[in-house]
Amino acid sequence: MDCCMSQIKENIISIQNRIEKACLHAGRSPDEVSLLLATKTVSPEGIKEAFRSGCTLIAENRVQELKAKYAHLQEETYTSHFIGHLQSNKIKDILSHGVSCLQSVDRLELAEKIHKKLITENRTLDIYIQVNTSQEESKFGVSPENAIALVREIAKLETLKIKGLMTIGVFSAEAEKVRACFRILKCIQGEIAALNISGVDVSQLSMGMSGDLEIAIEEGSTMIRVGTAVFGERITTDQFYWNESA
Ligand SMILES: *Cc1c(COP(=O)(O)O)cnc(C)c1O
Repeated sequence: MDCCMSQIKENIISIQNRIEKACLHAGRSPDEVSLLLATKTVSPEGIKEAFRSGCTLIAENRVQELKAKYAHLQEETYTSHFIGHLQSNKIKDILSHGVSCLQSVDRLELAEKIHKKLITENRTLDIYIQVNTSQEESKFGVSPENAIALVREIAKLETLKIKGLMTIGVFSAEAEKVRACFRILKCIQGEIAALNISGVDVSQLSMGMSGDLEIAIEEGSTMIRVGTAVFGERITTDQFYWNESA
């Protein structure tokens, strides 16, 4: 990681080109798709290089990394999301380290605990509901069957502002298997939108990564999350980030 600092700018340009091409192919406007950089294992210097290249939406997976880098990014103007599994005892840390949107809300107990904390701080937080569309046990996220019920419950917690849905597609060389995951998320989005639940906005669909962003854009993604294609291969396996028992 960071071996290729000079590459970061070039890589961002090439990702933007991929986004544009995919949008053109799908008959969508590139303005509908934002680029979020997944910065796990990336140094503050690497992140700053990305900022200088015009990309200022980033997300961490682990609270420890969020905290460590936050101190080095004080002078910067950027938007920070959180895309990792969150343990309840770390809620206070994401709230005090600049996170403006938590994309990984997947259970009611977690939502209730965040809500309690937000009440004491007299503030709100944007969230996405993470759905496990690949149905792999190793991935976090509410099951597709339970997603609507979870949204209904969380909608009652007035400090939590639901803005969208997030998923990680299955890792597969078979594009149609990956596509099926994104279709599930799009379908749930439609079902939730049709319910017109007060205060619930699911217009954001955070789906698609370095390897599958074209498919995600075809299937309606409004935010792709890219790490490897901008910052290079990671040494740490993603299991470390996606499944704490691993
Ligand atoms: C690491 C990560 C990404 C980016 O994955 P790449 O394949 O490196 O682009 C996206 N979403 C989540 C939740 C991640 O943990």
